Amino acid sequence: MVLPLSSSDPPHLLKPTRKIISFSRTHSNNSFGRSPSHSCNGLTFVRSKKPLSDLNAWGIGGPCNYFVQVFDQSQLTTAIRYCREYSLRFMIIGKGSNCLFDNMGYDGCVILNWIDFLEKIRSVGYRVGRGYPFNRLGVQSATEGLSGLEFASGIPGTVGGAVALILLR
Ligand SMILES: Cc1cc2nc3c(=O)[nH]c(=O)nc-3n(C[C@H](O)[C@H](O)[C@H](O)COP(=O)(O)OP(=O)(O)OC[C@H]3O[C@@H](n4cnc5c(N)ncnc54)[C@H](O)[C@@H]3O)c2cc1C
Repeated sequence: MVLPLSSSDPPHLLKPTRKIISFSRTHSNNSFGRSPSHSCNGLTFVRSKKPLSDLNAWGIGGPCNYFVQVFDQSQLTTAIRYCREYSLRFMIIGKGSNCLFDNMGYDGCVILNWIDFLEKIRSVGYRVGRGYPFNRLGVQSATEGLSGLEFASGIPGTVGGAVALILLR
C-alpha cells in the first residue's frame, strides 16, 4: 500500500491519507523461469528473495517476486523494458518512506532507484536524479541561496518519490 499525503495538507505535515493503493500478491505465470536470479544487460533481477520489509521505512512487507536496483537512466530503461517484455507488473521506489507493503508480498518487480546524481546548472539551479535525497537537495539549495525547497530538509525520501506523490494526488 502507498499512503500519500492529501493535497490540502501543507507540505511539511505528514498525515494519514485517503488514497490507498494495494499491491496484494497473486501468482503470475509470466516469469523468467525458476532460477533464483536473472541477468539482462548487466542488471540482476533477484527472484522471490527480497523482503519488502527491507525496502520501506516501516520494516513491513513480505517478499517481492522480482527485485532489481538501478543506478542510472539507462539501467532504469532496461529494467522497465524487461518487465514489459516478460509482462511483469513493476513499481519504482526510492527510500520507501511513504510505502506500506502487504505481508503477503508483491507479485511483480520492485525497481529500487539509486539514480542520485546532482549537477549544478549555473544561475538556474540543479539537475538531479530521481534517487537523489530530497532532504539533501533542500539543505543544499537553501545553503547556496536558492529558496523554495526549505521544507524538504526534513523529508526522508527521494526527489522521485516526492514528485511521484505530487502527481498521484
Ligand atoms: C517522518 C516523515 C515525514 C514526512 N514528511 C513529509 C512532508 O513533510 N511532506 C511530504 O510531502 N511528504 C512527507 N513525507 C512523505 C515521504 O517521505 C515523501 O513524500 C518522500 O519524498 C517520498 O520519497 P520516497 O523516496 O521515500 O518514496 P517511496 O516511499 O519510495 O515511494 C512513494 C511513491 O512514489 C513512487 N515512486 C518513488 N520513486 C519513484 C520514481 N523514481 N518514479 C516513479 N515513481 C516513484 C512509489 O512507487 C510510491 O508510489 C514524510 C515521510 C516521513 C516518514
